[in-house]
Amino acid sequence: MARFSNKVAIITGSSNGIGRATAIILAKDGAKVTITGRNAERLEETKQQIIAAGIGSENINVIVGDITTTEIQDKIINSTIEKFGKINILVNNAGAPFMDSVGTLGFSQDISIYDSTFELNLRSIVILTQKARPYLEATKGEIINVSSITSGPQAHSGIPFYSMSKAALDQFTRNIAIELIPFGVRVNCVNPGLVVTGFPQAMGTPLEASKTIYDFMGSNRDCIPIGKTADPSDIGNIIAFLADRSQSFYIVGQTIQADGGTTLIMAMNTHNLMELLK
Ligand code: NDP
Repeated sequence: MARFSNKVAIITGSSNGIGRATAIILAKDGAKVTITGRNAERLEETKQQIIAAGIGSENINVIVGDITTTEIQDKIINSTIEKFGKINILVNNAGAPFMDSVGTLGFSQDISIYDSTFELNLRSIVILTQKARPYLEATKGEIINVSSITSGPQAHSGIPFYSMSKAALDQFTRNIAIELIPFGVRVNCVNPGLVVTGFPQAMGTPLEASKTIYDFMGSNRDCIPIGKTADPSDIGNIIAFLADRSQSFYIVGQTIQADGGTTLIMAMNTHNLMELLK
């Protein structure tokens, strides 16, 4: 039997990147899925990729819209219940960094960027989790949040509001995990390193420049020790593991660093001191 048969999963931000890969993995493994994002065309691509994997369209619920709005948050939850009758898995993946039109970095970023960053990367997750909670308690379900290695403990001063929002998401994960575990609901978090997705474009980085960055980082082991920039499915497989109670039931409230070793590197140690002392 497929590991997610009879399960219903909501995967936010599934019109691209990590969310799309996760939706495909869960659906292929038997889950009925609600997929969602603002871009209708890209969301349709996700749907078609799931169908191409042999899944019937009756197992896919598509909601187009902005997850920071009450209307779409309600639609995601209510349509899932109407179509599939329950919620077993909530993957809070939708998220992005925000930039102004000239790409200002650091604390010179306008406070409106702080507002939009926290609205998407934290507030919408808190609200969706609150709305999904009774349904997840009813099924003793799973929540997986998608954070980032920028949550710390290293500073990320170029994108301060983004990294602060992810640090807050990590703490949200721990707090809600301890509150919900007595009700049988498990909450965990994945913190990816660099993954090949639409993320740089969301920051205004052109596609070619993104490829240059991915190639540079992936081929420098002092950036990514495993020697490869992640594909979205590398993260999707970890999300699926955390959603699979039969395999991961004893992991509660953890933030899993999935970064090919990036956060283990300290710049001090990347220099050859023997060369320096010659
Ligand atoms: P993508 O840009 O490829 O995907 C982001 C997804 O979020 C898209 O489906 C996008 O859909 C959705 N989204 C963004 N804003 C909204 C909104 N207002 N309403 C509804 N949906 C929205 O990037 P990733 O796959 O990389 O990002 C997924 C998660 O992974 C994010 O939380 C990100 O912070 C995190 N992450 C990514 C890393 C990376 O290197 N790629 C590293 C660490 C963390 P649409 O545009 O259609 O609205």
